[in-house]
Parts: sequence; C-alpha cells; structure tokens
Amino acid sequence: MEYLYAPWRTEYHGSKRDGCVFCDISTNPENDAKNRVLYRDDRCFIVMNLYPYMPGHFMIVPHLHTDALEALEPAVWLHISRLAQNGVRLLKEYFGAKGVNIGMNLGIAGGAGIAEHIHLHLVPRWIGDTNFITALGDTRVFGHDFDAIYQKLLSKASEYFND
Ligand SMILES: [Zn+2]
Repeated sequence: MEYLYAPWRTEYHGSKRDGCVFCDISTNPENDAKNRVLYRDDRCFIVMNLYPYMPGHFMIVPHLHTDALEALEPAVWLHISRLAQNGVRLLKEYFGAKGVNIGMNLGIAGGAGIAEHIHLHLVPRWIGDTNFITALGDTRVFGHDFDAIYQKLLSKASEYFND
C-alpha cells in the first residue's frame, strides 16, 4: 500500500502559553472570530486548524477537557459523530472536496500535538493534492487565504451543523 503521509500528523500546535489551548477556546466565546471558531453548542465547538494539511482542515472538539475518548459521555461522542457527518457534507457540498480524511490521535504515542484534550480532525482532499502537500511541508498557511477559507466555511457552518 502506498502511504504518502498521515494528514493529521501535524497538529494544531497552539502557542506556548499556560493551560490548554482548547479549553481557552472553549471558555472564551468572545474570541471565536480571532480563534477561527466555526461553530459551538453546549457540548462541542468546531475550530479551524491553524496548521492545516489542506485548506479547510478543521477540528471538532468537546468542551470537556479529557485525554480519554472513552471518558466521553456516549451522547457527546454520538454528537461529535453527527457533527462529523455534517462536516463531511459541508466540505463535499460547499467546499468542493472530493474526499475527506477523519482522524483522532489519542495520546502522545498516538501522535497528538495536544494530547490532553481530544479532538477529531476533518481534512478535505482532492485528487492529486499530495503534490501540494509535499510543497507545503510544515509551513503555516495563514494570512489572506486562511481567513478567506475561514469566512467561506463560517458562512455555511450554522446551516450545516445546526441540522
Ligand atoms: Zn482542555
């Protein structure tokens, strides 16, 4: 099997501040625009990955701070699954993705960049996009394109995730 890369290996690094990056986003809804949050409800929030493997890469994150998937209430996990279905639909119908990678890295040994707070990656894919990824490397995609993509997805996020 040809295995070129793991799209979720490079994680949302966050900054070197104290505390959990995801809890900081969770508890500061007034900063949602700055943090590039696409959606939030009482169980989860959805945020753009600042180090995307592909344009449009975002993460579904439970508000609960835990490093253990098995610690989530089953209802929360089902909710994450439902949001993932809607996220895939958003990426395919509205963002033009031809495929999507979904993944979780559980624990540092599992490759998690922020191991203490679990999160589910959604990475849109296109045929031939690995050439682009090779060129991109670990470069941080930011600035105008990143914001334009955030605004584009944000414009449809509530429609898709509130269904
Ligand atoms: Zn946390």
